[in-house]
Amino acid sequence: MRVLISSCLLGMKTRYDGRDKKYDISFLPAGAEIIPFCPEVEAGLGIPREPIELVLQGDDCIRVLGRESRKEFTEVLEMCCLKKIRELRKEGVDYIVLKSRSPSCGTETPLHDYEGNEIGVAQGIWARIIAEELPDVPCKTV
Ligand code: SF4
Repeated sequence: MRVLISSCLLGMKTRYDGRDKKYDISFLPAGAEIIPFCPEVEAGLGIPREPIELVLQGDDCIRVLGRESRKEFTEVLEMCCLKKIRELRKEGVDYIVLKSRSPSCGTETPLHDYEGNEIGVAQGIWARIIAEELPDVPCKTV
């Protein structure tokens, strides 16, 4: 069984602040092959890095912007995530575990207006691409 997991849940210090979010993954079957993946690090955003957030543009366009700089990271993250999807399709993946509330990995992440006000929730960019591209792979958010 191949399991893709948000790297920070495995204790890898990939978060924007250089910390991890280690989570007990003993619920996974013994012998599962673990595939760590952090879209933000893989996309070259660095550690530490400016926190990013989901920002609603117009009626239904969600962008990923730096919290302070408002620099746009949408395309670079999308490209990195789609590359990983191609790899996963080729090598196989049976189960996915994602970190909640992340603008990349979270399934119900705070959504902001351009001024930074919280206006709802939305899927993180990686979570959305997984739902679109790998709809049959079971996915758990923790
Ligand atoms: S992008 Fe995902 S894997 Fe990377 S630190 Fe954030 S929640 Fe963890």
